[in-house]
Amino acid sequence: MTGILFIVATPIGNLDDITFRAVEVLKSVDIVLAENTRRSKKLLSHLDISKPIRAFHEHNERDKTKAIIGELKSGKSIALISDAGTPLISDPGYFLVVQAKKEGLRVVPIPGPSALITALSVSGLASDSFTFLGFLPSKQIARVKLLKSLVSRTETIIFYESPKRILSTLSDMYIIFGDVREVCLAKELTKTFETIHTDSIPNLIQYLTIEQNHQKGEFVILISANDKIDIAEAENQLDSLLPILCAEMGASKAAKLAAKITGIDKNQCYKKAVDL
Ligand code: SAM
Repeated sequence: MTGILFIVATPIGNLDDITFRAVEVLKSVDIVLAENTRRSKKLLSHLDISKPIRAFHEHNERDKTKAIIGELKSGKSIALISDAGTPLISDPGYFLVVQAKKEGLRVVPIPGPSALITALSVSGLASDSFTFLGFLPSKQIARVKLLKSLVSRTETIIFYESPKRILSTLSDMYIIFGDVREVCLAKELTKTFETIHTDSIPNLIQYLTIEQNHQKGEFVILISANDKIDIAEAENQLDSLLPILCAEMGASKAAKLAAKITGIDKNQCYKKAVDL
């Protein structure tokens, strides 16, 4: 019998957020792989669990994976945890999971907290469709380039940011997204100083600068969707669509349909249709 690789989510702040299943699995496995052994020892001792803990982080993941696969094949069960939240989500484990699956080993998820979902659930921003980008590039040129590419996205955009860069990232965002777009700053989730602000970017910058402590802690940033139609793009669409529709139906019907598709005012579409 081969062992199972469990991917175990742990709390993102409040230790009471550990799940019953996570505790059971951590009690049952032979080995716990942890990003930061000292930190994970604290969690395990809080849970009254004593297990061999091995360091597994971004710098040794590739070197360690072969031996871990060997141990799984020899029948040992192993749990992977990260410092906080769900492993693999901006945390190590991807390479190991891929290799374990290639070898036909069982990889079992033990779900629990993740900062991005926790933040989204209380942000007040659209939660039906979203993109998570992990950490933004630390270099300003690359960060600005990426932010610019997100302006017309029609879903909520989520990323993680370090306290070191929170103010400069918000300042870059202000230049690119302006003062109308709603942004949520979710800080220290599930911890004593949990703060969730959904506001305009200038107001969030004011919040961060009014008191130095406001820049401390762990942050999730969520940018609301661009729900305005890109006028230029819609007009281009209308120009190519109208002649096709008008060839098939009367100007009035064509204008109605074109208005529905492009979001452009019906009368404007009709005027264009009769001028064709
Ligand atoms: N694996 C984790 C997860 O599932 O959310 C994320 C790990 S990533 C290395 C750490 C980043 O997640 C932090 O820099 C911060 O952006 C975000 N984060 C983690 N815990 C958080 C919390 N309690 N409140 C807000 N953001 C948090």
